[in-house]
Amino acid sequence: MEKTVQLYEGKAKKVFATEDPALCIVSYKDDATAFNGLKKGTIAGKGVVNNRMSNLLMQLLEKSGVPTHFVEELSDRDTLVKKVQIVPLEVIIRNVSAGSFAKHYGVEEGIVFDEPTIEFSYKNDELGDPLLNSYHALALKLATKEEVETIKKLAFKVNEVLTEYFKTLGIRLVDFKLEFGRLPDGTIVLADEISPDTCRLWDINTNEKLDKDRFRRDMGGVEDAYKEVFKRLMGE
Ligand code: ADP
Ligand code: UDP
Repeated sequence: MEKTVQLYEGKAKKVFATEDPALCIVSYKDDATAFNGLKKGTIAGKGVVNNRMSNLLMQLLEKSGVPTHFVEELSDRDTLVKKVQIVPLEVIIRNVSAGSFAKHYGVEEGIVFDEPTIEFSYKNDELGDPLLNSYHALALKLATKEEVETIKKLAFKVNEVLTEYFKTLGIRLVDFKLEFGRLPDGTIVLADEISPDTCRLWDINTNEKLDKDRFRRDMGGVEDAYKEVFKRLMGE
């Protein structure tokens, strides 16, 4: 399958149409942004890591009963996916306090929760992705009640599968963001990406950060952190 016209260029990926209207090609860039685009940079090799990692995890999730947009990895940076209508919600699951949770509620990072939490933000760059709850999502007609229920169920399932999987790699899945989309028949599937850009991943023994926080917080070792996650995923 070949790229035809570019449909969209986002902060981390480009999306292209193909000859098949039901499919598109996502192309992963090395560009990195944080704080709603205020901080910009490049992480060499990130596009390759994020593309291959996302594809591997999406295939694992499919096997575990979570429907996804994944169709076929075309190259190191390009993947064929089912074209979806994105539900404009960022779905965030947390297992351990970190980032905005720690900041909002005035707690330290690293508190392990008894149960995972879920929260939504409205995917809207102009408004700065404001937090909202499921009632707000219904009021704004971002999704139906049934869709919100499906999304919650799938997001917790993703957490179960990925938490167990990352544990086998010596990685603690602290938190992550998911996006879901609608197929033409209305089926909700997992879309976008699952990568060190969208997850907090800590080494299980040392708590070393192996994710985009190294970029956000100018910690150094950003490329090496992405490479380390990739190495563990590839079983090296
Ligand atoms: P952003 O839009 O936040 O800058 P990206 O650079 O990752 O993010 O751009 C990729 C865009 O493609 C996102 O808006 C995402 O919601 C969208 N997207 C992801 N998967 C699909 C899909 N299967 N079909 C259509 N759009 C998708
Ligand atoms: N996240 C993301 N995109 C966003 C916001 C958050 O991928 O636009 C991910 C982030 O990488 C982390 C989780 O969602 O794994 C929770 O992020 P948080 O709310 O703590 O926000 P942050 O501190 O990153 O601003």
